[in-house]
Order: sequence, then C-alpha cells, then structure tokens
Amino acid sequence: MSVMDDSEYEHLTTSLTPHESAAGVTTYRNTVAIACPACDDPFDDLVICRDEYNSLELSMLLDLCVTTHNDETLLFTHKH
Ligand SMILES: [Zn+2]
Repeated sequence: MSVMDDSEYEHLTTSLTPHESAAGVTTYRNTVAIACPACDDPFDDLVICRDEYNSLELSMLLDLCVTTHNDETLLFTHKH
C-alpha cells in the first residue's frame, strides 16, 4: 500500500465530483476520467474513509485500489 502526497490528494478532491458523504465515508465520482494512482486505469469512484473502522456495502462486483493519506484510507473503484 502506498501513501499519497498532499498535492495529489488536493488535485483529486478538487477535480472529482462529490457524490455522497455519510458516517465518515465520502464518495466522489470520477467524471473527468482521472487515472487511478495505483493502476493507471481511469477509476469510477473515489471513496475516502475517515474513521478508524468503516463498513462499505458494495452493490456490485468491483476491483479496488487502495492508498492512504494522513489518517484517511482512499479506495479507487473499478467496475468489471
Ligand atoms: Zn486502480
């Protein structure tokens, strides 16, 4: 697992479209086809988890790429 630097984090969270925020989890839609920092393929959503423990209910089969920034966990989702 890698760690994301501040400028990359800023770029992501200001470029993406906020979608949902609840219980320590914020979801952004990748409407601008930014490449996933982990695998270089464009991702669908960025999910930022701020709490120590979070549960995600996934409604579909997804590939996930993971990184961290400070105390946050960032999940990049890729639909099959
Ligand atoms: Zn990825």
